[in-house]
Amino acid sequence: MIQLHQIHKHFGQHHVLKGIDLTVGKGEVVVILGPSGSGKSTLLRSINFLEQPNSGVIEIDGVKVDAAKAGKKDILGLRMATAMVFQQYQLFKNLNALHNVMIGLTSVKKLDRKQAREISEGILEKVGLKDRMTYYPAQLSGGQQQRVAIARALALNPQVLLFDEPTSSLDPELVDEVLSVIQKVASEGNTMIIVTHELGFARDVADRVVLMEHGVIVEQGPVEQFFTNPKEERTRQFLGKAL
Ligand code: ATP
Ligand code: MG
Repeated sequence: MIQLHQIHKHFGQHHVLKGIDLTVGKGEVVVILGPSGSGKSTLLRSINFLEQPNSGVIEIDGVKVDAAKAGKKDILGLRMATAMVFQQYQLFKNLNALHNVMIGLTSVKKLDRKQAREISEGILEKVGLKDRMTYYPAQLSGGQQQRVAIARALALNPQVLLFDEPTSSLDPELVDEVLSVIQKVASEGNTMIIVTHELGFARDVADRVVLMEHGVIVEQGPVEQFFTNPKEERTRQFLGKAL
């Protein structure tokens, strides 16, 4: 389980996260929606300290980190507990698909190469890339590259998977293959937080949906309620505009 308590983030004078409280249960899939600039990426990046929150507490499976006082060990702990999939896949260009997945296992998890290879091959097969393992990123489509990035995150077997707009840099015809892999990962009981602009996908994949705006959570609720009977006028507006 992951619990965020009163997360605040300032960039200079700009107060970007204004006391975010969020709980994600084990195996739960939470989708975060919200207009551009509302703080969605900053929130995800605060969980693994790609951005250091100014204050608040991040708790993952009982391990609490006070953001204001976090030391190197705390940050390493959060990084080990999470894995992130970015909009721009961020693969190593000089490594083939298999080695892109293996590297986290050998360098971070310190597995030997044989074990790392076995795990990585299994996961690449799961994301439909068994026949592309020796290809380099430049030889793969955007959708295939993103599936390698998903495989890399899965290989680390983190307590929570974080996705930041995983399909927004893809050509439209490549979006579905990535969404269906994420859907499959979600159905296997992984704990996930997904930022997306794909409302249809959000509705299919989420257990719970959160709407953010101006650094606060406007509304959150179970997926069906959120889409069919939102409590807040702002949510209705957002859904109306986005649909
Ligand atoms: P989008 O949907 O466009 O990805 P978002 O909800 O992810 O938007 P963030 O990227 O979290 O929004 O940005 C929230 C606010 O914080 C924006 O106003 C942005 O300009 C500001 N911001 C984000 N990162 C930085 C940074 N490194 N330095 C200064 N300001 C930043
Ligand atoms: Mg963003």
